[in-house]
Order: sequence, then structure tokens, then C-alpha cells
Amino acid sequence: MDNLWTENIRKVEPYVPGEQSKEKDIIKLNANENPYPPSPKVFEAVKNFDCAGLKLYPDADAGKFKEAIARFYHIKKENVFVGNGSDDVLALSFQTFFNSEKPIVFPDITYSFYPVWCELFKIPYKTCPLGGDFRINADDYKEENGGVVIPNPNAPTSLGEGKGFIEKLMEYNKDCVVIIDEAYVDFGGYSSVELTEKYENLLITCTFSKSRSLAGMRIGYAIGSEKLIASLEAVKNSYNSYTVNSIAMAAGTAAINDKEYFNKTVSKVIKTRERVKKELRKLGFEVLDSQTNFLMATHREKDMKEYFEYLKTQKVFIRYFNKPRINSYVRITIGTDKEMDIFLEKTKEYLGRF
Ligand SMILES: *Cc1c(COP(=O)(O)O)cnc(C)c1O
Repeated sequence: MDNLWTENIRKVEPYVPGEQSKEKDIIKLNANENPYPPSPKVFEAVKNFDCAGLKLYPDADAGKFKEAIARFYHIKKENVFVGNGSDDVLALSFQTFFNSEKPIVFPDITYSFYPVWCELFKIPYKTCPLGGDFRINADDYKEENGGVVIPNPNAPTSLGEGKGFIEKLMEYNKDCVVIIDEAYVDFGGYSSVELTEKYENLLITCTFSKSRSLAGMRIGYAIGSEKLIASLEAVKNSYNSYTVNSIAMAAGTAAINDKEYFNKTVSKVIKTRERVKKELRKLGFEVLDSQTNFLMATHREKDMKEYFEYLKTQKVFIRYFNKPRINSYVRITIGTDKEMDIFLEKTKEYLGRF
């Protein structure tokens, strides 16, 4: 018989991230990381970082760092919250804002961390099926909800919705907090930051992991009304009064201040994405019109799990989700042009086309 105490251990199904292989020379297109290094200004900031200062706790308010983020968006520091990756910011937001008896709602195909947090924090939830075209229909979110969370653009579909969609969503959901997860927005999506002034219950979450090439540094932030941000600070300060670490803040400040480098890398990724999309379509793939740094693709004549596994033997890692509705698709992160050429070459090999 099992020990009785085991009954009281939390049983959770954790989130499974894209594999981080220890193999060398692999082409890693499976975790939506940026293929380019962070800004040279980040290298400089980390190299010149005063390590003696590490004996002190970081600025608990992250004042300077928040100011740099606020400057980028032309908002106030009081409208910015920072955390250790946007996963941290999102998890905190779930705890802070989703305390209703009514279920929170999100799409059936979306970032798979949302149901994990709901289970962990005991938040009731329900999902809304995406349309056959994988788009989100704002009218599905009309009912009284305990909260709403939607990535825009959505993952792993790569599809984004515009201002009209967000405004509709906000009109339908005046009595709960709506979180828009903008992890991928810099790659061509519509950002609702401008709407946070109009809607006090709208929270945007963002990350330095994708468009700013700092996944390893773990920096995320949220933008919203002073009321929402103050509530997030209060919840964070009830169990961890210190913020992002000092080195991360130095790197993050350097990254957000270098607009030129940011624009340049984002444009490069977009350009490569569009080229690869066309090439894949020529090879018979159906590819969704991505507004992110990845492509969602399927092939009528081929089994995508087998394709994914073939590429793995060729040291090209992409992502396959063994889940209803999307198990005939693969998700391909956009790498450098050189990496994508190898990916395309291996894809042609798989299809038997030379
Ligand atoms: C990558 C991602 C995040 C988390 O990013 P962090 O690395 O934790 O900042 C959040 N939401 C979505 C939809 C993502 O794809």
C-alpha cells in the first residue's frame, strides 16, 4: 500500500518545452529562440558589469529598467511590471487576476502553459475552439468569464488578430481582466499597448526571449493600467520582494535601448520567414500566414511526425505536437538564412526531390 502522505502531494502535468539537445552541430528550430545574438550593446553591458555590486540585492523596484522599457513604449514607469521571463509574469498574473468562481477562458489550441498554471493554481478554466481556419473568433468570448488570456499572435498557429478583434474582446469582457500575451508581436503582429490607456482591465505581457535574443537571461514584462501593475507588485512582494537580477537588468536595459539593432534583427527574421514560406509552398506544404518567428506547416501527402523524426536524424530539430487538431502540422522556428537553407535541403531530401 502507498504511504498515505503521498495522497497530499500535488500532482501536476508540467509544461514540456522544446528539447534542448546536448548534441553539437544541430540546427535548432524547435523553441522559437532568435537565431541572432543579442545586441552588441548587451555584450558591452555584461562585459563592463561591476561584479562587486553583486553583493547587494537588486533594486526591488527595478526603477531604471522599468524607465527604459517605458521610454521605448512612450508610457510611464508605473505602467510597467518586470519579471523573470514572461512565464513568470504570466504565472503571477494568473494568481493576481484570476480569482473568480467563473472559469477563465482561452483558445483550445494555444500556449500550453495556460492549462498547466490553471491546474497548479486551481483556477477553473474552459477552452474555446479555434475556427477551421485556426482563427480566434471574438464572439466566442462574449459570455461572462472569470478572465481571458489570448496570445496575439497565437502560438503555435502563428496567426495574429488586429485592433478590431481586441476592441471587441474588451467590449465583451468589462468585468474581468483580459491578458494579451504578445510574446511574438514584434514579428509583424498588432500590439494592443495603445489600448491599455483606454481599457483599465487590459494587461499585455511581453518577453525579451524572442525578438531581443535574450531567452537565456529570463526577462519578461507586463504593460497595463497603474491599478493592474500595482496589484501585480503587491502579489509579487508577498512572496518574493526582489525583482529581476542585476545582470539581467543591465543586459535588458542595453537591449531595449538599442532600437536600431532590434529593428534590424526583426526585419532579417521576417525576410527569411517569407522566403522559407514561399519555398515550402512550392514543395507542396500548406503554410499558415505567420506574424511570428515560426511557421506552422502541413503536407497533404506526408506524415508530419515522420517528417519531424526524419529531420531529427539529420540534426535538424523542429517541433511536432502530438495533440488533437494539430498533429498533422509541424512548427518550424525561423533560423539564419544558412540554417534555413540546410533545413530546406533536408526537407527536399525527405520529399524525394533533388
Ligand atoms: C515563449 C513564450 C512565452 C514565454 O517567454 P519567456 O521566455 O518566459 O519570456 C510566453 N508566451 C508565449 C506564447 C510564448 O511563446
